[in-house]
Amino acid sequence: MPAIPSSKPYRIGKSRTGLGLFATKPIKKGTKIIRYIGPMLDCNKKEDDAIENKYLFQMTKRWTIDGSVRKNIARYINHACRPNAESDVSARKRTVVIRAIKNIEPGQEINYDYGTDYFKEYLKPIGCKCDTCEKKRKKLRAEARAEKQREKERAAKKAAKASGASNGKAVNGHAIVGKGLRGRAAKTTAAKSRVVKATSRSKAAGKTSRKTRSARAS
Ligand SMILES: [Zn+2]
Repeated sequence: MPAIPSSKPYRIGKSRTGLGLFATKPIKKGTKIIRYIGPMLDCNKKEDDAIENKYLFQMTKRWTIDGSVRKNIARYINHACRPNAESDVSARKRTVVIRAIKNIEPGQEINYDYGTDYFKEYLKPIGCKCDTCEKKRKKLRAEARAEKQREKERAAKKAAKASGASNGKAVNGHAIVGKGLRGRAAKTTAAKSRVVKATSRSKAAGKTSRKTRSARAS
């Protein structure tokens, strides 16, 4: 891990997805935090265009920063869908600066939005782990659990009614439950095959074009 001078308002630390950059001092909204640095790649050059890694930051159609180098501390900054910083690109000066767009408190993780291309290529297939998306997933899971519970209760009520109506015809009662189970199993399989299809599509897309980080389209 590269050493960071203590005068800087950040440190590298453990985050949900591995490592991240965390504030060690209050960082005011609008402050420049760090530069995203690395060799400049010219996509008009074949050997430059062939370079592929997760730290490519596309500045313009032609120029991309290869941020995979060790001295580029900004590469530790993780993506977030609702970030507290942004990437500020100066195409003329060929620089990228990460700037706070909210007041950041010591201990908070610094993050910025990597842009749509990167998100689709690298984050969507594995599920974005940012706070916003984690919260959304938690909510969906809770809702799904609640719905399952309601379904169970409905089925139990139905079964109770059926057994009451048939008045001792237990064989019929069993047949009804059996059918219900088969129906549920079929549904689950259909949902799974949909997921598989979506994944293979995104893989195919990845082969055709290089995806890079880019400034948030705003
Ligand atoms: Zn997210």
